[in-house]
Amino acid sequence: MTSIENIYDCFLKSTKVSTDSRKIDNGCIFFALKGENFNGNKYAHDALKKGAAYAVVDEKEYATDENILLVENVLSTLQQLARYHRKQLGLPILAITGSNGKTTTKELISTVLSRKFKASFTQGNLNNHIGVPLTLLAMDKNTEFGVVEMGANHRGEIADLCQIADPDFGIITNIGRAHLEGFGSFEGVIKTKGELYDYLAKKKGIVFYNADNKILKELSESLTERISYGKENATFTGAPIQSPPFMHVKANFKKGVLYLNSNLIGDFNFENILAAACIGNHFNVDPLKIQQAIKEYQPSNNRSQLITRGEIKIIMDAYNANPTSMRASIESFLENLKGEKFLILGDMLELGEYSIEEHAKIVGTIPTEIRNNAFLVGDEFSKANKDVSIKTFIHVDELYAYLKNEPIKNGNILIKGSRGIQLEKVLDLFN
Ligand code: ATP
Ligand code: MG
Repeated sequence: MTSIENIYDCFLKSTKVSTDSRKIDNGCIFFALKGENFNGNKYAHDALKKGAAYAVVDEKEYATDENILLVENVLSTLQQLARYHRKQLGLPILAITGSNGKTTTKELISTVLSRKFKASFTQGNLNNHIGVPLTLLAMDKNTEFGVVEMGANHRGEIADLCQIADPDFGIITNIGRAHLEGFGSFEGVIKTKGELYDYLAKKKGIVFYNADNKILKELSESLTERISYGKENATFTGAPIQSPPFMHVKANFKKGVLYLNSNLIGDFNFENILAAACIGNHFNVDPLKIQQAIKEYQPSNNRSQLITRGEIKIIMDAYNANPTSMRASIESFLENLKGEKFLILGDMLELGEYSIEEHAKIVGTIPTEIRNNAFLVGDEFSKANKDVSIKTFIHVDELYAYLKNEPIKNGNILIKGSRGIQLEKVLDLFN
């Protein structure tokens, strides 16, 4: 078996890390991971032929070349290597978890910190037991700050990711009713996210927390080092400023007030922006640079994006959905947009036994006067909805066909649902 030190040597000599034999860069080190339907070991030779410098495998029969390194388990080797690398670099790392807004907050924090440091951060949504190691392994000796998103859908996962990334700083964006299926209950969600605080409490690291959030405030009490942000009674304070459809923040810096204008839609982005400003402020990023970073950040991937098509304004938020983010999106949409309003809502997946109840609660929040303009897509919404004035569709293609015949010609549309429902398909209707 190859030792972790030897693997580390090979990693340092290689150009990149790959876990996908279809994406092999010259000189990379290929980790032959296994999945439910594939065995990376089989592609180790192929990877070398395509230009990989090394391949790491865990089945002896494939270790037939001196550049194929045999280990006990490829996944745990990848994770150990990431931790080892992180220790060698010795750089500060901030970990982000939470039920909603991790990626948005991560991107905001990273863009703010990048104005002062050479920051390296999670690409896209690579936030799991493979993504976190890959994020760490993408850092190098020039990196001055690491920002790592951590996702979880079952207990113990954040604790495991903390073991790998060994963060010095942490933030839980919020705790909501997401992934109830894997966690068993809301209590389970709190405990899992809290694993980040537990890790930092032991390490005497620093937690940034939202003082307006009762659960986070209480959870963070076990930490000696905690820095708060919020509307008031916090180390760093700010107020939400509506500039429909965008969310701006009036932030109180030591030297005075600054308006942080953003291209983000949805009231919930107030806390995401404030968190980024608080963290930038803590690490002494020039307030004017924080302001500029937030102003220049553009959301992507269907996360609270504004799309204008002729007379129609679409708030596209179909990247993911759970009861907390669904409610927050609907409320913000109804309050802030002027003109006729339409809701296109897709199922919130992975809610387990709470699913129908949670979908019914969302149906209950739709005001009577816009029920005629509400379209629900998916099995769960179809089962939960008892109001005949609201149209339901099992599949997004059925809604597509319906709207092709009965087009929406003007007004505002909120499109929100879990990614699996593929609500983005309806965008074609508005070209
Ligand atoms: P994932 O679990 O897929 O990694 P995430 O936690 O990274 O999600 P984002 O991708 O940043 O979250 O945002 C996804 C959606 O969550 C947004 O489009 C928005 O609807 C909602 N959201 C973002 N921030 C918040 C927040 N602070 N509170 C509630 N909902 C939010
Ligand atoms: Mg994310």
